[in-house]
Amino acid sequence: MKKYYMWVIGCQMNLADANKVAARLEALGYVPTDSERDADVIVLNTCVVRQSAEDKAAGRISSLKSLKKQNPDLVIAVMGCLVGNKPSPKLRERFPHVDVFMPPANPEPLVEFLESRFHERVPEGVSPWEQSLKFQSLEEGGVPVSAYVPIVYGCSHACTYCIIPYRRGPERSRPADEIVREVEDLVAQGVREVTLLGQIVDRYGVDLRREDPSAPDLADLLRMVHDVKGLWRIRFLTSHPSYLDDRILEVVAGLPKVCEHIEVPVQSGDDVVLQNMKRGYTVDDYRRIVEKIRMMVPEASIVTDIIVGFPGETEEQFRHTYELMEELRLDVMHLARYSPRPGTVAARRMPDDVPEEEKWRRFRLLEDLQARISAEKNAGYLGKELVILVERKQKGRWMGRTRNYKLVFFSDDGNWRGKLARVKITWTGPWSMIGKVVGEVSPPA
Ligand code: SAH
Repeated sequence: MKKYYMWVIGCQMNLADANKVAARLEALGYVPTDSERDADVIVLNTCVVRQSAEDKAAGRISSLKSLKKQNPDLVIAVMGCLVGNKPSPKLRERFPHVDVFMPPANPEPLVEFLESRFHERVPEGVSPWEQSLKFQSLEEGGVPVSAYVPIVYGCSHACTYCIIPYRRGPERSRPADEIVREVEDLVAQGVREVTLLGQIVDRYGVDLRREDPSAPDLADLLRMVHDVKGLWRIRFLTSHPSYLDDRILEVVAGLPKVCEHIEVPVQSGDDVVLQNMKRGYTVDDYRRIVEKIRMMVPEASIVTDIIVGFPGETEEQFRHTYELMEELRLDVMHLARYSPRPGTVAARRMPDDVPEEEKWRRFRLLEDLQARISAEKNAGYLGKELVILVERKQKGRWMGRTRNYKLVFFSDDGNWRGKLARVKITWTGPWSMIGKVVGEVSPPA
């Protein structure tokens, strides 16, 4: 039996893309393996959002040189944002041992390569959007409980620091019926929770409505996905503050399967920096959004992203970010140190003038602040009972998340994978909680 090995870093979109490649490979007769030495085909799904991710991807590709030398029949395929929608010819020069380069979300170059080299054929009836969860099952010891479904490909926003629009192309929403079929197919494989993905997920359908004004928006789509039987939970990310409207929040507040969890990056708490980033909103706009989420969905976890050390960011401008976070007390902060990305406006026009150690200092200050806020928030759950959807066993303990995305662990001999557990919280820390299971909760109809 021919085998494939899959390696994925970066965003959730990459995992969904990898599962799409996996489905195509399995249709060609390949099975997953967790050892690259056993593989006939190796697929590396890459990320370049920051230099560190790009270095990791490049290192991993280079590390396969010797394997390819030992086994010239080995097929090596590289996918994702390192390749981009218009692969540069330089990639081939840089990595001559790679057989196939695939743009994000598009397994066809590999399928065509295998078909022509080995005279293999993908049988009729395999949909191009199909995901196979088999390689993830191998890693997780069972079918993943939670899966990702891209609903908007690409991005047309062009924040000055961001390379994603250059690598993933302009914003394209997928037809709603295709998304619903993909979710049904994932549920049939055992999935209970889906996260709908887009770089700016709350712009879902904007492009479709240029052709057909009656095409659904995100609120409509959430209602359609909500009707999928056997699905228990729905999340969506990433929202942009300028597009997160009342219609979406009403659906989060009203539909029982849609979880109280909003990821809405602010990036900076200073108006001048936000302008230099071309984010399209002010700090006050962001405050109003947070206020509105809390009014309409009081239980909601609010997650944000922040870049520290953006070109020209002064100590005072950083202070504004710190003070905003102190004031808003959000649930999670994803922190990044600014990394100039080739081709972006910021990299071309704005000198990367905040020293590395200063970026680290700002990063750590925010990290400490968030640890304090999250610890205080989680401490409020001590002694309370929370319902979690159990995802997998991790280091001997079951792990799952609440509807509002809090991470909870518990120990028990039973098999809790894919079940809803009621857990009484006995310990809380900033990043997770521990509890004792007190019972199983019946799933939504
Ligand atoms: N589309 C989403 C996020 C995509 S990238 C949005 O609009 O927010 C995920 C995160 O990586 C971003 O939110 C940002 O905080 C960070 N990021 C993107 N480009 C970066 C860069 N050049 N340097 C550092 N962090 C960056």
